Formats: sequence, C-alpha cells, structure tokens
Amino acid sequence: MREVQEPQYDAIVIGAGVAGIYQIYRLQELGMSATVLEAADGPGGTWYWNRYPGARFDSESYTYGYSFSKDLLDEWDWSEHFAGQPETLRYLNHVVDKFDLRKHMQFGCKVEGAEFDEDGCFWRVRLEDGREFTGRFLLTAIGMLSAATLPRIEGLDDFEGESWHTYYWPHEPVELAGKRVAVIGTGATGVQVISEIADKVGELTVFQRRPNWCAPLHNDRIDEESLADIKSSYDEIFEICRRNAGGFLHSPDPRKFQDVPREERLELWEKIYAARGFSVWMSNFIDTGINPEANAEYSAFIADKIRSRVNDSDTAELLIPKDHGFGTRRVPLETRYYEAYNRENVHLVDINETPIERITTRGLRTAERDYEFDLIIYATGFDAITGAFDRMNMTGSGGLALRDKWSESPDTLLGMQTSGFPNLLMLSGPQGGSVSTNYPRGIETAVDWISDLLVYMRDHGYRRVEANAEAESSWRQHVQEMYQFQLMSKVKSWFTGYNSNVDGHDVPRLMIYPGGAPRYRERLEEVAANDYEGFHLS
Ligand code: NAP
Repeated sequence: MREVQEPQYDAIVIGAGVAGIYQIYRLQELGMSATVLEAADGPGGTWYWNRYPGARFDSESYTYGYSFSKDLLDEWDWSEHFAGQPETLRYLNHVVDKFDLRKHMQFGCKVEGAEFDEDGCFWRVRLEDGREFTGRFLLTAIGMLSAATLPRIEGLDDFEGESWHTYYWPHEPVELAGKRVAVIGTGATGVQVISEIADKVGELTVFQRRPNWCAPLHNDRIDEESLADIKSSYDEIFEICRRNAGGFLHSPDPRKFQDVPREERLELWEKIYAARGFSVWMSNFIDTGINPEANAEYSAFIADKIRSRVNDSDTAELLIPKDHGFGTRRVPLETRYYEAYNRENVHLVDINETPIERITTRGLRTAERDYEFDLIIYATGFDAITGAFDRMNMTGSGGLALRDKWSESPDTLLGMQTSGFPNLLMLSGPQGGSVSTNYPRGIETAVDWISDLLVYMRDHGYRRVEANAEAESSWRQHVQEMYQFQLMSKVKSWFTGYNSNVDGHDVPRLMIYPGGAPRYRERLEEVAANDYEGFHLS
C-alpha cells in the first residue's frame, strides 16, 4: 500500500497584504500550523508596491484599519482622513510586529504554481526558485489589483529614458524636477499621480483614452480633538460601514430621485460634492446607480462642476466622460486634479483623436507627432481579480487548470471556492464580497468566515472541502441577477471584466458581487448555519 504523505502545514497563505496579515493572525490564534509566502521583501501587499507619487486611501483611514483589536484601534493615530501610502505601509508593519506575525511569514517567495494532490489531500506550492511547500489548505490572499498590466503599444522596450508602471514604482525617489513627463492612463491611479506631480515636473503630458468622473477627496489632517472623537466612536463607524453596500462610512439618501423636487436635489448634490470621500458617490439618492434618468441628471451636475474648474472649455469637454454615467466605473477621488489642467506646463492629449502609434527611443509617437520625454509613467491598471490567479499555474482535481476553468467566466461559490479545486480558499476571489467593498471590511468578513469553516472542519474531522458545481452555478445566476440591476453592468471597466491589454478580456465577465455587503454577509451566515450547504465536506 502506498504511504499517504502528510503536508508540512495545515495551511499555506499566499500574500502578506491586508488579507494575509489578518488571516495568519487568525490561523495562529486557532493553533494551526501555517506560513505566509510573499513575493516582496516585506508585508503590505498593495501598500508595499504602489509607491507612486500621490498614492493614498480614498476610504477614510479609520474605516480602513482592522477592527478586530480594540487595543490596536486605541493605539494607532491616523494623521490624515485619507492616509498616504507610507503611513499605511507603516500601519501594516506595525500590525505585523504588534501581533508577532513576521515569524510566520517568508519573504522573497514568488509562487510559480500550485497543484492539488488528490491522494494526500493537500496543496503542493512551487516557488520560482524551485522550493516547494505543502499545506492541507491553500488560502489565496493575493489581492484584487495586483497583476499590473502594461499597455500593448509597440516599442515599450525601446525607450531610453526612465519608465515605470505605477505599481512597480521604485523605493528610491524618482527625480521629477524639470523633467519632461508622460502619463498614460487616467483611472484612479493616473488621477492621483497627475494631481501630485503637475507642479513638480517640468512639462507633463497626459495621454487620455477615456476620462473618468472624478470628484474631490477633501482630505485634511486629523487634529487631536477629531482623533479622540474617532477613537471613541469606532463602534459606530464600523456599524455604518457594516450597513453600507460598499463597506464605507457613507449612507445613501433613502429617497428616490423622482420623489424629490429639483431644488432639493441640487441641495443634496452640492452637499455631497463638498463632503469627504465617497459621499459624492454613495450618499446620493438610492436609485442613482440603477435609474438612467437619475444618473444622467447627476452626471450633468458633475459635468458642470468640471466645467467650472477647468479654464479652457475644449479641455474641460475632453475631461467629461461621454460614454458612461457617474459612478458606473470606479470614481477616482482627487485633490486639484482638474485644476492641474489650468497649468501652462500640463497638456492633455486625446488618444482617440491622435492614437499612440509606438514608444520610441526618446518618447512616443502619435498619429500627429513625435514627443520627447525623460520619464514615462504607465498608470494603465491591472488584470483585476483573476489576473493574479492566472499568473500562477494552479491545478485542481484531475489536472484541471484554473486558468482554463475560468477562461470564459470566473465562477465561484460566494467568491470563496471554485468547484474542482478542493481546499483552495480564496480571500479575494471573483464574485465574492471582499472584491466589492472597502477592502479591509470585506476581508475581515472573508477571513472570519474561512477561519470558522476551518474550525468546523477540524471539529468534525473533515479534511476536504469543495464547492458543489450546482451551488456554484446558482451563485453565478444570483450574481448575474445582481449585475443586471445596475447601470455599471453595461459599462466597460474592471467591474465588468474588461482589460484591453489582456487577451480574451474584451467580453463582459461577472467579476464582483454587486448585491451589497449586507446581503452577502447574510448569505455567508446562512450557509455556515446550514452546515456549509453548497460545499462538499469529507
Ligand atoms: P484603471 O482604473 O484600470 O485605469 C487604467 C487607465 O489606463 C485607464 O484610463 C485606461 O483607459 C488606461 N489605459 C489602459 N491601457 C491603455 C492603453 N493601451 N492605452 C491608453 N490608455 C490605456 O487602473 P488604475 O487607475 O490603476 O485603478 C485601478 C483600481 O485600483 C481602481 O479602480 C481602484 O479600485 C484602485 N485604486 C485605488 C486607489 C485608492 O484607494 N486610493 C488609488 C488608485 C487605484 P480606459 O479607461 O480607456 O480603459
């Protein structure tokens, strides 16, 4: 008889970002043997990598921190309502050290592949350097926006100046003063970079394909009194986040758009435009994301705001989205973004009019002319959610490759598991709640649910869990129904699975869970209460 091999660990966690940190905290608390494999040389995930100028939260800092430890909440002083990347990275390192988690983490471990060993019922994980680890459960904490994509433009390697994708911004400072700089991409990242560097560079040329609806962040420092207030109201803060569909500190106006006279609508819109963070998106009339008329009127209101902030009317028109309504793609929050275009050293190029033909040794060539640059910044986004999975070779039961299974649709059960991949538990899986919310809020839900499942399995002597194909298919149907309601479902963005720089991502895919965090949590609780119905435990 063949001897069944026992795995090295109860659990292997891939990734030491927001999700991996909390997951390893819970695993060690449960007394499970576990390790975190992390490609970087330190923890922090997204906040480790994204060091580009202007990188900061657009969730209120005090809604982004972990809620699981009162001690941690009491001792950490956020300095700004929307903290910058260095502060967030310091915070995450602080959490790791406070709970002594570093000893469970291995850095410089880039996972190249993982396969499920059917006989032994465990995962074998291979690193790029050839090392192997085995664990009963494989928990992916690999982030949702961690597979950066460069544009598919000829000549990328020809450029002799400096060029960076924002995600891979170097640790050393990049000289900006006096430099001729190009930014390609105007999503949430591009908007932050452009706003931050406009007055620091020599010349800045922005190459825009589609504008987004941006709105003011209204960041500020947190004074001592406000900090004391925040610390004494964490329970309330997290309760508001729990009730909000996106896990944010904002509540919708319960009225429907058509039930409110125009004057009152304008009053609310002025108020939320002047309010902090995502109020401008989430504190609106409840039907703004689903009622085309409400959305069109609000979009017209925001368009006027843009016109009022940009001096040149042609530039203003270029910056106003014409192909989608407000909030149907991720809304970039900004600080003096539109005003940047009033500067003499900032130029906007519409690449629909004059497409980029190639990158050259000295800059880039559009259909109209050659440009010379010292620095090209690619703020061209990510192969969202599934990209990080696709970049690892993951093989489940019977040699099924995850990449193949998901080639048309990244179907999962609750975003937590996908059939054919036993014991693979995903903290930010497609069609799940954590990829649809203020990330740490969704992640605490996912980690707690998965940890409870592991305890349940331990208590019942189970060692294998796999989503049923039928349950997965019902979940897909439910996710699809939730998408159908929303105006965003008709718009190309990473919410709907598009990325022009990745083969096959030119068709709509069901990527997130658009039914709202409260509904999602309710479903998770029901499933757990019914002995994890939909999951086959053995
Ligand atoms: P993104 O929203 O996908 O934006 C990428 C930008 O690059 C878009 O403007 C896109 O144009 C453009 N682009 C892509 N390929 C191109 C090409 N070949 N030629 C020309 N333009 C091209 O990516 P992102 O800005 O990095 O943001 C991704 C997500 O990260 C956000 O939605 C947000 O969830 C998160 N984020 C969060 C924060 C924060 O918390 N504060 C900050 C930054 C980012 P099209 O629109 O035409 O495709």
